[in-house]
Amino acid sequence: MRASTNWGDASLPEAADVVVIGGGVAGVSTALFLAQRGVSVVLCEKGRIAGEQSSRNWGWIRKMGRDYRELPLMIESARLWERLATEMPEDIGYRKCGATYLARTPAELKRHVDWLESNAHFGLDSRLMSSDETDRFLGRNDHQFVGALHTASDAVAEPALAVPALARHAETLGVHIIERCAVRMIDRAAGRVSGVITERGRIDCANVVLAGGVWSRVFLENIGVAFPQLAIKSSVLRTAPAEVRCKGAIGSERVSIRPRKDGGFTIARSGAAEFQLIPAAFRYLPHYIPMLRDRWQIMKIRAGRQFFGPLGRTSWGANDVSPFERVRVLDPRPDDSLLTDVMAKARDLFPQLSGVAPVESWAGMIDVVPDEVPAIGTISGHEGLTVVTGLSGHGFGIGPGVGLLAAQMVTGATPIVDPAAFAPTRFTRRAAA
Ligand SMILES: Cc1cc2nc3c(=O)[nH]c(=O)nc-3n(C[C@H](O)[C@H](O)[C@H](O)COP(=O)(O)OP(=O)(O)OC[C@H]3O[C@@H](n4cnc5c(N)ncnc54)[C@H](O)[C@@H]3O)c2cc1C
Repeated sequence: MRASTNWGDASLPEAADVVVIGGGVAGVSTALFLAQRGVSVVLCEKGRIAGEQSSRNWGWIRKMGRDYRELPLMIESARLWERLATEMPEDIGYRKCGATYLARTPAELKRHVDWLESNAHFGLDSRLMSSDETDRFLGRNDHQFVGALHTASDAVAEPALAVPALARHAETLGVHIIERCAVRMIDRAAGRVSGVITERGRIDCANVVLAGGVWSRVFLENIGVAFPQLAIKSSVLRTAPAEVRCKGAIGSERVSIRPRKDGGFTIARSGAAEFQLIPAAFRYLPHYIPMLRDRWQIMKIRAGRQFFGPLGRTSWGANDVSPFERVRVLDPRPDDSLLTDVMAKARDLFPQLSGVAPVESWAGMIDVVPDEVPAIGTISGHEGLTVVTGLSGHGFGIGPGVGLLAAQMVTGATPIVDPAAFAPTRFTRRAAA
């Protein structure tokens, strides 16, 4: 999960058109598409490029199962990934190998049928597979699954390779990338953005893009904006290379599995995550009751070390060491007992995994917003600030689309999709109420 380029020694420019805060897929993509439009961009990353969610995710680039509000942007994003994968000189493990959701019960299958019917007008290639076809697809013969939802055009890539590669691509277009450079505050003059204060000094700029992942809420609260974004810890493992008949990314209620470029598998369980009980969770709890009600059987609630830690801190000044400098790379401990169970379920699904060992495990802190649809747009009273966050556990796939839309908003270009559904003010209005 380590980027190979050393951006930590880069110097701090005095000025730029836009400063992007955060070197995850959202910030890097925004910077890339801004630079393609001739805008001068500095990207400040407190730790390392893709050190947090953007290298820790499963690597699914899927349209299937998405909320209708983000599907148009995801369809564009899928095209962008395909184009970027061929444009970039590095192999990012991009493969259009399809994605499949298995259904063990009629109730699970019905959820997939409902999704398919209600999104039929998007004209996707998603389709249902019968129990027989699912057996043939998995290479088994026991009708354990009543069917599946399959999308042949969905893709995968290696997150730990892809986002640093995007950053290097952005750099060739002129983006100035600085690692180990936390942005502490936004500077304002005459009611609008005039620069940023980083831990290394000030950069003049008229526009700031906040793509801080799980840290965006903390940043916004420090400038007086209530934003109900919370954190959910999710654990993952990868195996050694193995001969397994696994066609593309496969998800079920018990286990999700994705073939890797190195011949191994990335394995985890969807939704089996730890809701972090930080002070903000109490403040914003009413926003999250529907999500917790839906997932109480699989989601744990934990008052972890983050409670009084940096994710809990919301007030500091330009000369103070900010929470972002205290945690260069958020690297939570994986849930070992969950992963032991997940690996056993993976072996149930693919008995060929029986002799195959997990070789690494990790966790990532997912940033979520209440409706799990990204927040992309401006916040009134903060002219010059564009927020690009809340990618809610499925932002790797939609990341390039999110970055393109954000770049279009910053430059006043015609947006690739209607951005209304993404307005961050849909929460800030309610949070203030
Ligand atoms: C375990 C796991 C599995 C997932 N699986 C998938 C999947 O299969 N498909 C999918 O589409 N999505 C998936 N996701 C979600 C996806 O990874 C995220 O939605 C996406 O990476 C978020 O990107 P981001 O750029 O918004 O945030 P991040 O990648 O978290 O980047 C934010 C960056 O901002 C930096 N930062 C924050 N504040 C500051 C500051 N003040 N100054 C400087 N830098 C700052 C941070 O250090 C961080 O590097 C998964 C996530 C996890 C954790």
